Amino acid sequence: MSDPKQRTTRPAGALAAATGILTVDLAQVAENWRGLKSLLAPNVTCAAVVKANAYGLGAARVIPALARAGCDTFFIATPDEAIEARHLAPKATIYALDGLIPGAAEIFIRETVRPVLSTYDDAVLWAAHAKISAHGAAPCALHLDSGLNRLGIQARDARRIAADKDLVAALGAKLVMSHLASADTPGDLKNREQLLAFETISSLFPGVPRSLAASDGLMLGKLFHFDLVRPGYALYGGQASQSNPTPVKPAVTVKARILAVSDVAPGESVGYAATWHARRPSRIATIAAGYADGVPRSASAADGHQGGHVAISGKLALIVGRVSMDLITADVTEFADGAVRPGDFATLIGPGISIEDAGHAAGTIGYEILTRLGTRFERLFIGDSG
Ligand SMILES: *Cc1c(COP(=O)(O)O)cnc(C)c1O
Repeated sequence: MSDPKQRTTRPAGALAAATGILTVDLAQVAENWRGLKSLLAPNVTCAAVVKANAYGLGAARVIPALARAGCDTFFIATPDEAIEARHLAPKATIYALDGLIPGAAEIFIRETVRPVLSTYDDAVLWAAHAKISAHGAAPCALHLDSGLNRLGIQARDARRIAADKDLVAALGAKLVMSHLASADTPGDLKNREQLLAFETISSLFPGVPRSLAASDGLMLGKLFHFDLVRPGYALYGGQASQSNPTPVKPAVTVKARILAVSDVAPGESVGYAATWHARRPSRIATIAAGYADGVPRSASAADGHQGGHVAISGKLALIVGRVSMDLITADVTEFADGAVRPGDFATLIGPGISIEDAGHAAGTIGYEILTRLGTRFERLFIGDSG
């Protein structure tokens, strides 16, 4: 297990030579968690979803920072993430969303991690493990489907479980939860339908704490809060819903080095497959980040098709031509002489370019941008109180 204080395996001083830097403001992540918590009644738990290495940012630093801010309940997805989270937050309650893949039950018992069970068979399997565990019971969560039709116990199986008193006793469910399909669209009728469906099926398990809302769901109002909310994306400054934004601020910036600035004559093309042509005498900056770093190739630009942006000294520049594995090219013709220099940084995400902007320009969502930011970015953590 890696030392949480250790940033990367690179030698000290590597930062000076990094081609790209991903900065995570841990104080802002903690502030975002507090901001979301402030929307809840005092008896509602504000958990934190830190799956996928805290949405690609670095669980080793994000989990301890949130724990210090007072967060005592975390959700991860996989057994490996469970082991890491347990190491980083020894006292926290930890739920594993992916449930019981083969071999996982032993790990969850050992690490005192609560699996989120999503099938009838998993419930039976967990009950068997719980009976032979040291305490004769092992806490878990039941994920009930309320209309997403992804992971979640179907109503018929939920009734089968609830009717089996021995099974219910052995399970020791500490949470019943469900997940919303359209929380980022507050006016969508599906939210109401799922709320009602969840009320109905969760009543099969009276007295067990309930949870329905993630980042956007908790903005739908107190009816959606139940006993625990599970924000992830918003903690990192993501704003999935434009119409009903969460009270959070950006916590992530991504910068990459400018490697070269060159003149391109009118009619010349830039990049693979010559998809973009200069229509005027142009200056093109080549920047050290590409699709291997998580800059989507779909953020490319071609003649007649605008792609994504970068920002240099606070001013936006359009990506031109194809995004390649290690490089992107941006049109800096409008910049003053000497304003764009090799060795300087271009901003990929930061002031002027939100995670959502970067996603939109690539035909995807900010979640995908965040979670795919590559391992070549040096991760720099600021604002850490620990
Ligand atoms: C990922 C996930 C969350 C967190 O969702 P955000 O939109 O990132 O807040 C909550 N619950 C479940 C079941 C999830 O899979």
